Amino acid sequence: QSLIKKLEDTIENFSDFPIPGIQFKDISPIFLEPKLYEEVIEDLVRFSKGKIDAVCGIESRGYLFGIAIAVALEVPFILIRKKGKLPPPVISEKYDLEYGTAEIETREGQIKPGQRILIHDDLLATGGTTEAAAKLVQKQGAKVSQFSFLIALKELKGEQKLQRFDAELYHILE
Ligand code: 5GP
Repeated sequence: QSLIKKLEDTIENFSDFPIPGIQFKDISPIFLEPKLYEEVIEDLVRFSKGKIDAVCGIESRGYLFGIAIAVALEVPFILIRKKGKLPPPVISEKYDLEYGTAEIETREGQIKPGQRILIHDDLLATGGTTEAAAKLVQKQGAKVSQFSFLIALKELKGEQKLQRFDAELYHILE
């Protein structure tokens, strides 16, 4: 059975969660199957091998796979967190949500100038979060070389928003 088929059978879909009109994909059943988790990591590692100097994971589901990718490739892992969770000095980036704004941060100095960065998250929707993460990486003089996701929701056009970073993009499912 292909990895795509296994993931399709494992990830659970919920209509109207957390609010009406949203189709939520719950990835947590993947962690009940260590062999499947391993296969996901192998697939994501294959995409990034030899092409990156560090991984940035987006809070919080981006950590669940991002750290394993970084360890497998023996490169640093940097946490991109929601505002107010990291001690100063931090670098911040604001972005728009459907209602209002949000802000993400990294510890200053953890991303090094000139590094080729993989930005990883579990799911790409509108791309707003990932776009802000990419700006945060650029602000620190590093290059966004790759994006990877387990799932990219095509209809929300997140990939288009990320095109201007001129980076490779990979997702297992759509
Ligand atoms: P975006 O900024 O691309 O619109 O939203 C992507 C962010 O929202 C990601 O950090 C992702 O974890 C989270 N997200 C949005 N919808 C879903 C969903 O259906 N399932 C999961 N697991 N995460 C979601």
